[in-house]
Amino acid sequence: VAEMGTPDRAVLTTCAYCGVGCSFKAELNGDKLVRMTPYRHGKANRGHSCVKGRFAYGYAEHPDRILNPMIRDTIDDPWREVSWDEAMDFTAKRLTRIRDEYGRKSMGVITSSRCTNEETYLVQKLTRAVFGNNNTDTCARVCHSPTGYGLGQTFGTSAGTQDFDSVEETDIAIVIGANPTDGHPVFASRLRKRLRQGAKLIVIDPRRIDLLSTPHMGEKWHLPLRPGTNVAVVSALAHVIVTEGLADEAFIRTRCDWDEYQSYADFIRDERHSPEATELLTGVPSATLRDAARAFARGGNGAIYYGLGVTEHSQGSTTVMGIANLAMLTGNIGRRGVGVNPLRGQNNVQGSCDMGSFPHELPGYRHVKNPEVRAIFEAAWGVEIDPEPGLRIPNMLDAAVEGTFKALYCQGEDILQSDPDTKHVAAGLAAMDCVIVHDLFLNETANYAHVFLPGSTFLEKDGTFTNAERRINRVREVMKPKNGYADWEVTQRLANALGAGWHYTHPAQIMEEIAATTPGFANVTYDLLEERGSVQWPCNDAAPEGTPLMHVDGFVRGKGRFIVTEYLATDERTGPRFPLLLTTGRILSQYNVGAQTRRTANNVWHAQDELEIHPHDAENRGIREGDWIRLASRSGETTLRATITDRVSPGVVYTTFHHPDTQANVVTTDFSDWATNCPEYKVTAVQVAPSNGP
Ligand code: SF4
Repeated sequence: VAEMGTPDRAVLTTCAYCGVGCSFKAELNGDKLVRMTPYRHGKANRGHSCVKGRFAYGYAEHPDRILNPMIRDTIDDPWREVSWDEAMDFTAKRLTRIRDEYGRKSMGVITSSRCTNEETYLVQKLTRAVFGNNNTDTCARVCHSPTGYGLGQTFGTSAGTQDFDSVEETDIAIVIGANPTDGHPVFASRLRKRLRQGAKLIVIDPRRIDLLSTPHMGEKWHLPLRPGTNVAVVSALAHVIVTEGLADEAFIRTRCDWDEYQSYADFIRDERHSPEATELLTGVPSATLRDAARAFARGGNGAIYYGLGVTEHSQGSTTVMGIANLAMLTGNIGRRGVGVNPLRGQNNVQGSCDMGSFPHELPGYRHVKNPEVRAIFEAAWGVEIDPEPGLRIPNMLDAAVEGTFKALYCQGEDILQSDPDTKHVAAGLAAMDCVIVHDLFLNETANYAHVFLPGSTFLEKDGTFTNAERRINRVREVMKPKNGYADWEVTQRLANALGAGWHYTHPAQIMEEIAATTPGFANVTYDLLEERGSVQWPCNDAAPEGTPLMHVDGFVRGKGRFIVTEYLATDERTGPRFPLLLTTGRILSQYNVGAQTRRTANNVWHAQDELEIHPHDAENRGIREGDWIRLASRSGETTLRATITDRVSPGVVYTTFHHPDTQANVVTTDFSDWATNCPEYKVTAVQVAPSNGP
């Protein structure tokens, strides 16, 4: 601060990293950003922050940023820096030729969970109103799409049920497939506070996460399951609750579909779901399963928090439905301290889903096949909307390889690094005639692009993000866009180059259109956000103050729905060549593929990806602490250093995925969730061997 000068003004905005959505004051001296100070009255963070939000904003000024548009005829040509007009002209001509030659369904978009609601709304509108199809998808495809499916089926809406404040009344928490200390640090500190006050904790995770080491905490259980067996563990908990008469029958009778519950209860009573049978499948001791189930059912207010360790599996959607079953079974829905709470990874992944990024849903999770819903948008946009759902990301890539999908507008997403089966992604991109990358940096996907449109950071735009508790937070322009345009303006320019005639002059107008077309946002205006600081959707005439808790008097779908959740083993199997199971996660100081956190001046950010391996497995292979090792699977191999720890069980290894040099996704499989195609990143059969280094 001394070097940068004393702040003379502050702009209130929202962190652009994880789904906690912390409020910050961006403090400036003149035009220079001096520091980010967590905002005392921020409703998601109450004055707290983590190191990423507080310190990792230097990427906005990093010399790697591309500030001028670039084009090239083929991906083998060098980039040519051009004006915005020339870039738009080049892109529009190419897209028009593709549409004339291959038809309107040969093009699509990938929206960004890093961008604002208003920007995402415009990108899906570009697809539907200008391209003329529903080929829009989002990075949620590779993270929380099973949440969308699973909670939609059981409760009627695909969002967390609680606000973060609610944890202050939780008596017992299940944390499954999540490591909040690293992934959602400010929420983790609120949960830790509650644990120190005596709340109990059940962790279902192959790895012993830090929450279990909270000092002075109440009773705790760790269920260290074999990766890929979430459904079996959740069913075993339900089995104990039903067979021992611990279910909350009064809640189930009044709030849930009773006939469906009875079918579910018959299913779950079966001996194959008993703790003893489950121990054989999952490795979790039957006594621990029994104790944890009893504690959760009898423990007062029970809340469930989960992350990508639930969703990124071939049965991701099934586990989400199993979790919903467990909450309904114990009456833990509809009041403070309870609920089902997906911990969203990216700052605006909730918002990008809300805004209609999926190929089958218009904004507000309404199916494109529904003529009444289409009519709302057709009236607002003055176009006819295709009633057929569009392509998901993997289907776009398949169609590109087959030669029928030719153009992709990819905003703020590096699919070559973040999506599974890197070779297939590269083949799909290479087969297209027009790949438009709209990003801050020349990322890995840009190697296959014909057009590069410079993006703007969260500091350079107005808009809103929606966090994991459905809270719509304002993002405010702290500095002018270094590239000349905020991302929503770039999308508008592209639409207008294709003849759309859009005339938005501020994101507030886009929010007006969202409110007019999307019932859950009906009362959301920038004036209201100014007045209240933030609101949680639904925010409309029925809930003018917003909705901190969902499903209070009834579920969004009416009666809560129990769904039978049969465990099916993943097709990814260990064997003599690949005897260990790899699972993945994050570290506190890095964020996803590291594009931003690696571009800060502070050395702490540059921690490398490492492989955690149990002492027995390391000894069997002659591996010592810090050795280089080769990590190989049926898909590929990579090299990284070993950390020997009993935080992982024997037979399980663990790494993070933040560095392009490591490219953990070269190793992961191409299996995916049966309902949503969410990749199975969390289970890969691997072998580990000593190596001389990369
Ligand atoms: Fe940002 Fe999440 Fe850290 Fe809050 S907890 S400062 S939202 S990264």
